[in-house]
Amino acid sequence: MRNFDYQKPAQESEAIRSGQTTGARFIAGGTLLVDLLRLDVEQPELLVDLSALPWRQIEVAADGVRIGALVSNSDLAEHPAILAGFPALSQALLSGASPQLRNMATVGGNLLQRTRCAYFRDVAVSACNKRKAGSGCAALAGYSRMHAVLGVSDQCIALHPSDMCVALLAMDAVVHTRGPDGERSIFLADFHTLPGAHPEIESALKHGELVTHVSLPKTSFSARSAYVKARDRASYAFALASSAAAIDLDGQIIRQARVALGGVGTKPWRCMEVEQALVGRPATREVFQAAAALAMSDARTTEHNGFKVQLARRVIVRALERVGGVL
Ligand SMILES: Cc1cc2nc3c(=O)[nH]c(=O)nc-3n(C[C@H](O)[C@H](O)[C@H](O)COP(=O)(O)OP(=O)(O)OC[C@H]3O[C@@H](n4cnc5c(N)ncnc54)[C@H](O)[C@@H]3O)c2cc1C
Ligand code: SF4
Repeated sequence: MRNFDYQKPAQESEAIRSGQTTGARFIAGGTLLVDLLRLDVEQPELLVDLSALPWRQIEVAADGVRIGALVSNSDLAEHPAILAGFPALSQALLSGASPQLRNMATVGGNLLQRTRCAYFRDVAVSACNKRKAGSGCAALAGYSRMHAVLGVSDQCIALHPSDMCVALLAMDAVVHTRGPDGERSIFLADFHTLPGAHPEIESALKHGELVTHVSLPKTSFSARSAYVKARDRASYAFALASSAAAIDLDGQIIRQARVALGGVGTKPWRCMEVEQALVGRPATREVFQAAAALAMSDARTTEHNGFKVQLARRVIVRALERVGGVL
């Protein structure tokens, strides 16, 4: 491991100033960054520890919930307002990692977690455009069972691994940031970027810009939501395919719907084609299956991960069945 400087600012302004230094990286819970330091994937010159900043509040108002960037994944999952008003988010968080990790992991860190692509983490021998722009992509000719099938490019097929972000996407979440150029509010849908020709760019965040909080608007569909995750083990495993679904019902008729996918995209993936096929239709298994069949039409699979196409459609149906009262 290389030497680096360390600062623990108590003020936001100080953190932003330090974060602008060349080679600076923010650290929150450290559950991802410390791994990447040990692997030599991340080589910061300065670590700016955010843990002393006053961002651990979950504030509930009439129009929604405001979640500080340092709220732990455990605290968020167990909060009464999230359990009652945004159950898909609670279920997504609880499906991730282990209790010990969730106690340390923060909302900001989860939003900015990096891919688990084994070649990205293998500094010694594997080429990786995300780690070093223009160096190649070992996954393209390698073993790619866990890799993405939506939003991929010729430069990178790395999967976005977060469960939390899939639920946030379905709940119309907004990410609030503060940086050298002031404050910004970014829809979660626009926060993560596709790899395209620049897999090394992963989000709309600029160098030195901090995520301060996330807001969840109160909607007619969030309380009727669920998260379903298919994985190799019952716990402590990343998604092969997952879905967050939410619907608003008028009797048996679907008034509004949100469907998002995890485990398949280079970023959390919203399925608008599925949502449109649901609206105005009755909440039945047949309608859910017909709508889910429209998902994944743009999938670009490899010889190892073609199974994700059917699996993703099935987790969508399962999540819709839960919220539609069919199960
Ligand atoms: C063994 C293991 C299993 C896991 N399983 C799952 C799983 O099943 N599902 C899942 O979704 N996740 C899983 N995770 C990932 C876990 O959710 C993340 O490691 C965690 O959420 C990162 O949060 P952190 O606070 O520890 O981030 P850190 O490690 O502190 O930081 C992560 C990144 O976020 C940046 N960052 C942090 N906070 C801010 C901020 N406020 N503003 C700007 N940048 C910031 C850091 O600079 C860094 O780049 C797993 C992790 C491990 C180690
Ligand atoms: S898939 Fe992306 S992260 Fe993985 S080796 Fe290729 S460029 Fe790197």
